[in-house]
Amino acid sequence: MDYTVARQRMIAEQLVRRGITHPRVLQAMAKVQRHLFVEEAFWGRAYGDYSLPIGEKQTISQPFMVALMTELLDLGAHQRVLEIGTGSGYQTAILAELGAKVYSIERHKALASRARQRLESLGYYQVWIRVGDGSVGWKDRAPFDAIIVGAGAPNIPMSLTEQLVDNGRLVLPVGQPSNQILKKGTKRGPSIHWTDLRSCTFVKLIGRQGWDE
Ligand code: SAM
Repeated sequence: MDYTVARQRMIAEQLVRRGITHPRVLQAMAKVQRHLFVEEAFWGRAYGDYSLPIGEKQTISQPFMVALMTELLDLGAHQRVLEIGTGSGYQTAILAELGAKVYSIERHKALASRARQRLESLGYYQVWIRVGDGSVGWKDRAPFDAIIVGAGAPNIPMSLTEQLVDNGRLVLPVGQPSNQILKKGTKRGPSIHWTDLRSCTFVKLIGRQGWDE
């Protein structure tokens, strides 16, 4: 099946209409085939305006949220990005399309290994995925130019802000399990400048600096 038209419609109706403007983000969203990141039974719905199940009671995020969070990261070429919550690997692929070196952590082994296989078969080699608790970051690979968290945290995990370079960006949902605020933090010397973007609903970030299981 060729879903090029469905992808173009997704970009026009879900992304551009809602204010996503960064040309490279839009190009990446046009190129990455979202249907390849979900089971075949969901291919017909892969370009809809919603999240979809990916197993282990987890979801691939809504395309708009992926585009918005990517845009907020303000990535330059070859930047080092830490992603918490690999899930299907779709967001990882979008980051890799932008030329980032992506270090991604997923707590479910089955999801991590499916995402790794998918990304390898699609030719994304600047991606490193490991199984573990991403709420404490990836100290051995720090610091990062940007950090993106694809799951809702109860508070801002201090380990993550510590693992940013100066001027580094952290984008994450923070709040209650049923509803969070998407926040962007920019590190300026010893402090972080925070902006609240919009309300959102993500699955829980489970871990030492997240929720209990
Ligand atoms: N952006 C992903 C995609 O494109 O498919 C979807 C992310 S999904 C909404 C959130 C993911 O975060 C889930 O796969 C979940 O298992 C993972 N997760 C939750 N807490 C985590 C943690 N502490 N460390 C790593 N992964 C975690």
